[in-house]
Amino acid sequence: MNDPSEASREASSQHPKGVVMKFGGTSVEDAAAIRRLCKLVERSSPHRPVVVVSALAKVTDQLMNAGWAAAAGSLDSAREILQVLRRRHETVASGLAKGEERRRLSREFATEFKALDKMLLTIASEKALTPRSQDSLLGVGESLSSKLVQCALRSAGITATLVDARECIVTDAAHTRATPLWEETNERLQAVLLPLLESGRVPVMGGFVGATRDAIPTTLGRGGSDFSASIVGAGVHAQRIEIWTDVDGIMTADPNLCPDARRVPRMSFDEAADLAYFGAKVLHPATLVPAMRSNIPVWVLNSRNPGCAGTEIVAHCEGDGVKAVTAKRGVAIVDVEPVRWFAPELLREVFDVFERHQHSLDLLSASRGSLALLVSSVSALPAIADELKGMAHVRWENHKALVCLVGEQVRRRPELASQAFRAIGDIDVRMICQGASERNISFLVDESRAEEAVQRLHRSFFLHSEPAMEQDASQAMCQAEGAWQ
Ligand code: ASP
Ligand code: MG
Repeated sequence: MNDPSEASREASSQHPKGVVMKFGGTSVEDAAAIRRLCKLVERSSPHRPVVVVSALAKVTDQLMNAGWAAAAGSLDSAREILQVLRRRHETVASGLAKGEERRRLSREFATEFKALDKMLLTIASEKALTPRSQDSLLGVGESLSSKLVQCALRSAGITATLVDARECIVTDAAHTRATPLWEETNERLQAVLLPLLESGRVPVMGGFVGATRDAIPTTLGRGGSDFSASIVGAGVHAQRIEIWTDVDGIMTADPNLCPDARRVPRMSFDEAADLAYFGAKVLHPATLVPAMRSNIPVWVLNSRNPGCAGTEIVAHCEGDGVKAVTAKRGVAIVDVEPVRWFAPELLREVFDVFERHQHSLDLLSASRGSLALLVSSVSALPAIADELKGMAHVRWENHKALVCLVGEQVRRRPELASQAFRAIGDIDVRMICQGASERNISFLVDESRAEEAVQRLHRSFFLHSEPAMEQDASQAMCQAEGAWQ
């Protein structure tokens, strides 16, 4: 990966800085949510906001369902899904705009839905939803929402300009999980966004999407709008990146599991990246990479509770305790036992085989006798085992979870590991990984015990062994929605 920030750093000395405001699906789910968004953008207007939006809540899933239905030959049910989507967008539009603005939006929707229908026809005729057609299909969700939001902002008296993210975010052709080509992306972002910011306009663009050099639409992976916000922020060297969601910030644990989870006011990029990687759904795991390289602070904020200070993610953050507990489910442990002895060549071969099968490895621990690997999918393991035959025996066990304690320097404080053991010692811990980083200790347990392990650890580290306290129900519900499912 080349450096996302180089080009932007150069530009930043001559150009005004902005603030990237990214609104997730629930922050644009209906007219009321979009009106809240407009107020937040208006309040930030002196700081030159760039607005990045997700598709309306659940729209991406529905587009996916339409694609699958078309591929399976049920064009009628696919079209029904489109109709429902169209009605929903029209309803939201009616709650936001009137007169000519409203009519303009309807015309734009007509064009988008005509294009969607054509895509479904192609998918049906190919009898398959290819990664490439999936990207074209899903990206329309963000195109629709960005049009709605631009229209709403204009109706609220804010001079908003629609920017097509597919013309700014240039990616490789790895459909469904594309990576930006940083230099070109930064150049285009600056060329398009900086003049708008200088003239006091508010650019509005869809997250999640990009396009190849040949203008073929791509996506950055599910949940990728956070990543878009960070790419845009690094591209224009923004002052800060705000991720507006429906929880009060990053929490000490999944509030669905631990209703007494608390907001973490401040954490480091590394801690937040570890948390995202180890299962916390509040941020897309790649989000922090561009922000971190350009050293731009990222804030996670609640659009339904804007008075709450949220979580600030910065380069360095004092405090050496545990910041949060999380669990990554659906993990399998793979034992690689050498047929003869454990030679360095075996390690190389193992990595090569996994790479050839495009199978990513999560964690690894090696001892003289064998190698233990953690993976999050077992699909390629039979083929991998076959290739290693003669060198090693490969066995695996499914349905494990990696329960993880994250905090700067947790590993430097052995008493934290003993405290964790006291809390979950009677749960069968299959493996303890002190990770590649200093910031986490993780425990491999059966998936069925993961919930209990998280709850007990959370109680031990955050509630000082007090029994869980009753919490204000509305607050718990607000925290529990969406971001951590
Ligand atoms: N709409 C996309 C998704 O649901 C991207 C995002 O919301 O971040 O995955
Ligand atoms: Mg998200």
